Amino acid sequence: MTSHSSAARRDHDVIVLGTGMAGTAIACILARRGASVMMLERNTHPRFAIGESMLPQSAMWLWMLARRFDVPEIGRLSDFDSILSHVSPRCGLKRTFGFVYHHEGRDNDPGESHKLIPPDLPFVQESHLLREDSDAYLLDAAIARGALYRDHARIEDIDIGDDRVTVRLEDGSVHRGRYLLDGSGFRSQLATRFGLREEPTRLRTRSRTIFTHVEGLPAYDDIVDPATPAPGSQRYHDGTLHHVFDGGWFWVIPFGNHREAGYGVTSVGVTLDMDVFPPNDLPAAEEFARHVARFPTIARHFSDARPIRPFVKTGRLQYSSVGSAGQRCFLLPHSAGFVDPLYSQGLVSTFEAIYALALTLTAALENDDLGPARFAEVDRLQREQLLAADHLVHNGYLAMRDFATWNAWTHLWMANKLIGDIYTTRTCLRSLAAEDPTTLDEAIAHVPFSVNGPTASEHQRLLSLCSRELEAAAAGSTAPDAAAEHMLAALAASRWLPHGAYGWGRGSSTHVDFTPSRLARVLLWGKLAAPVELRRNVFDFKVSTLAREEIRRQLRQRRTAVERDPQLVRA
Ligand SMILES: Cc1cc2nc3c(=O)[nH]c(=O)nc-3n(C[C@H](O)[C@H](O)[C@H](O)COP(=O)(O)OP(=O)(O)OC[C@H]3O[C@@H](n4cnc5c(N)ncnc54)[C@H](O)[C@@H]3O)c2cc1C
Repeated sequence: MTSHSSAARRDHDVIVLGTGMAGTAIACILARRGASVMMLERNTHPRFAIGESMLPQSAMWLWMLARRFDVPEIGRLSDFDSILSHVSPRCGLKRTFGFVYHHEGRDNDPGESHKLIPPDLPFVQESHLLREDSDAYLLDAAIARGALYRDHARIEDIDIGDDRVTVRLEDGSVHRGRYLLDGSGFRSQLATRFGLREEPTRLRTRSRTIFTHVEGLPAYDDIVDPATPAPGSQRYHDGTLHHVFDGGWFWVIPFGNHREAGYGVTSVGVTLDMDVFPPNDLPAAEEFARHVARFPTIARHFSDARPIRPFVKTGRLQYSSVGSAGQRCFLLPHSAGFVDPLYSQGLVSTFEAIYALALTLTAALENDDLGPARFAEVDRLQREQLLAADHLVHNGYLAMRDFATWNAWTHLWMANKLIGDIYTTRTCLRSLAAEDPTTLDEAIAHVPFSVNGPTASEHQRLLSLCSRELEAAAAGSTAPDAAAEHMLAALAASRWLPHGAYGWGRGSSTHVDFTPSRLARVLLWGKLAAPVELRRNVFDFKVSTLAREEIRRQLRQRRTAVERDPQLVRA
């Protein structure tokens, strides 16, 4: 498909390689701002892609992109109801983040499970994106905004000159532009052709994965002991479920977990610590099945699953680059580096970096200041994101070796999520109150847990302490129970956590359900009792804006329901 017949003859402001979510989202924004954009895609849409589980923060970043750059099409992916109405009914609902721990040869002990149910926010709701549909939707949006598109584009050569970039395709066509964005992912064209990969990578995580899409997988909640009541207001099936064990974890991402679903497919994968499970020559499906069979509860959950596409088995997932910014070119996050999907951080980093890049690039195009120095801050942001994700995931794998350490680490991860989510929510609420989208830019200036984030000092202290304990437990110099006890004690003593809303540091606290009353407790704490830095920098929004947005959401939902079923008007 080619969206414009004269595409090969024109010079463009920006050429984008790859039309995943990153390439298409930035193309939408640039085209909206009046830039001429050419998107070159090696494959064609619709096509399978991985990276399906959203977080409150990835949804909020999409919302912020839409609002800041006035591209409502992007915002439709930030809310589950609007995804169903505008994008695809084949995407799934995500209301929970579940971790169920398993020991080889034993049924899961329900006490060794965590379920996080984040607060229900009025302006976004995360989802499971069927990337086949979401990426095709964003591509259409970019084309509708005027971006040009070539699929089956096989690159023969890329030439970066002082005043322009030239991309030659194998079919003989030549595309010239002032700037090149590489969104082609882990096989990044720029990184490969210009030797930008860091070899060996500095990332500490060492994992590989095997994955596919299946039919016939039941809700996990239906296969566990019915005598054990499901914790919280939502099922595990209403979100992303992780089956965790020593040396790895499975993901379970259902797409058919809502009333309007007509697509009973689930994304499944197992991700393995390569130091525990080194690469081997086993066929992908066979190795996947062997790991399933080791854990009786997982085997029951997967017993009726039928793959609808071949399994993919990867080598090491981690890669990084010496830098993202070059003369007239930039590597988008997934082209620059990647860690591991354990905490679903990939799309958060992608959308956040696109926000920063869109601000810089639109200004840089105006005065043709397109050298690497201009993009140094975005480069720094991407590097920080990658290293922070690596730190979190590397420690996650160390923690998985024993439930005690996994439990303590999960407490820290939940604290990290809660404060990070509140910070991003606060930025959105302040921009709504000010009715000024440019105020959203402060989300980039103060990334929550970066070196300049408002909670950085306490976060770094807890993170360093827990890392030391996990390393000691892994080296055998501390017993896992003792390491977990030290970690939990540090969390229990932290003044930076709302202890009235969850038992941080109490080993028996596992699930947390942020119902409206629990959220109210967090807000009261944040407004009145939290350390002054948190009150000033994280809880400095008006609760009335939250209430107003909630009323608006209820009116929107009512309108949508009536549109779908006019009989409701009488009710
Ligand atoms: C196993 C796995 C699971 C993941 N799960 C999650 C998750 O649950 N949640 C989350 O937030 N993130 C997840 N991620 C990360 C997520 O996949 C990425 O953040 C996201 O896909 C980035 O989007 P993108 O558009 O940059 O890249 P991609 O989605 O990789 O898109 C790249 C595009 O470039 C095209 N392309 C490739 N080569 C060329 C070429 N030579 N020329 C032109 N085009 C080319 C491809 O066809 C594709 O369309 C996961 C990653 C992996 C590896």
